[in-house]
Amino acid sequence: MPKKPSPSCSECGQLNCYRRDKKFPSFCLTEASDPKELEKVVQRYRSNSGDGRIARAAAEVEGTYYGKLTRVEEIVAFANRIGARRIGIATCIGLIEETRAFIKVLKAKDLEPYAVLCKVGSVDKTEIGIPEELKVQKGSYEAICNPIFQARLLNEQKTDLNVIVGLCVGHDSLFMKYSDAPVTTLITKDRVLGHNPAAALYTCNFYYKRLLDPEQKL
Ligand code: SF4
Repeated sequence: MPKKPSPSCSECGQLNCYRRDKKFPSFCLTEASDPKELEKVVQRYRSNSGDGRIARAAAEVEGTYYGKLTRVEEIVAFANRIGARRIGIATCIGLIEETRAFIKVLKAKDLEPYAVLCKVGSVDKTEIGIPEELKVQKGSYEAICNPIFQARLLNEQKTDLNVIVGLCVGHDSLFMKYSDAPVTTLITKDRVLGHNPAAALYTCNFYYKRLLDPEQKL
């Protein structure tokens, strides 16, 4: 018999770690944590390290502007609080107009944007072993998304904060792995749902019930 996976926070009906106004469940991840390990992490947030400054700046933006600012504005507020001036943008080609609009905003707020497109380097997909039939437009020159090179070029520019604008699932993973500067996301690409991936979850009990179909292999 395969071992039943242990329950985690998604099975918790209490969420008591937030305000401590209920009870911790028997399997609680907070209660099961090693206090020394937890303290090491808290110490990092408290410190003057980059991690500490980021943690406190993020909480300050949340607490000051909760429900008042758009994410575009929150990124500006966050950048200001961590002292970031050079803002790298790793953009998808399909969202270049949105990137251009974002750049106008950043400049208006006295920040220094620098964008690198996903197709930079212009390497054809077949050169990394992707078969012709997997191209979006078969038979044409079609460049790979090149997130490692995007990160390298932004690293050379010594950006202070990098912002993802619509990188593909997985390409974003590589970009985050290779970026020297901390990374945040402005747009999470969903080609079907107008870049609102949460809509699939809001509607998965009816319109998108295929999401819950174990027969649908992806
Ligand atoms: S940490 Fe504990 S209280 Fe918080 S959500 Fe997880 S199980 Fe629930």
